Amino acid sequence: MPRRARRTLLLAGLLTLAPAMARAKDTARVRVDFIDVGQGDAALITSPTGKTVLIDGGPHEASDALVAFLYARHVGPLDLIVLTHRHADHLGGLPAVVERIGTRLFLDAPTPHPGKEREHLMRALDRARVPVRDATPGRTIDLGAGATLTLLSPPEPPIVGSRSDVNANSVVARLDFGATRFLFMGDAETPTERWLMSAHADVRAQVLKVAHHGSRFSSTARFLAAVHPEIAVVSVGTINDYHHPAPGTLRRLESAGARVLRTDLDGTVTIESDGRKLAVRASHARTELASP
Ligand SMILES: [Zn+2]
Repeated sequence: MPRRARRTLLLAGLLTLAPAMARAKDTARVRVDFIDVGQGDAALITSPTGKTVLIDGGPHEASDALVAFLYARHVGPLDLIVLTHRHADHLGGLPAVVERIGTRLFLDAPTPHPGKEREHLMRALDRARVPVRDATPGRTIDLGAGATLTLLSPPEPPIVGSRSDVNANSVVARLDFGATRFLFMGDAETPTERWLMSAHADVRAQVLKVAHHGSRFSSTARFLAAVHPEIAVVSVGTINDYHHPAPGTLRRLESAGARVLRTDLDGTVTIESDGRKLAVRASHARTELASP
């Protein structure tokens, strides 16, 4: 092909692409990354106006990977960190995030659970002079361009005498953008689900961050019917001592009609919403075992 003709073709290609690119730029999107942090939870919300919220920060061993992920996403100081509860698999990576990325505000889970990682986190927040507030149900955070994050729990009054009160008093949060919703369950348990339903919390959502790494102590059929998720994300490590996720929970998620994605098999799961439709991608191609 003569050089001139090739150039014309290339230009024609660019011209046809240009309007589509302009449209894509005009479309406001919310992005949620369910970050592969091994056995633990960490989810990054990026709003259409660029506001960033990190819900949990994985275990300490994931610190470097988590910070590298945030750098790769060009995240400056976060606008907010929400801690769902004080277990090490949710807060161990946060001291590194506070020190190396920074945050403007920290919303704390209320139920005490002492530990070395917790002390590190509080020291890091103190050194960086980050304001620390208690997460309270009903609080709504405006993320711009119509995106909001609403805290549905911790339960009030707190749940006491359950299998794990630290888990049961997890902060549950719902992200709304247009007609799309994401529900973040932390490590909530069956009593949390019961409390949310008795409080008439609006839990309906297309995307569910499954409670407690898909354990058998939550995600009851009744609660899943109320959420009615299309996509369920289980944040879980490849090898974990807890046998998460539980086969019965996976069956309940599938019976509820949800497509299940898992950070141990799919890597980091990224879901984008334009307010109407969801686009899903995963960092690993899942290797299914060939059936005999
Ligand atoms: Zn956990």
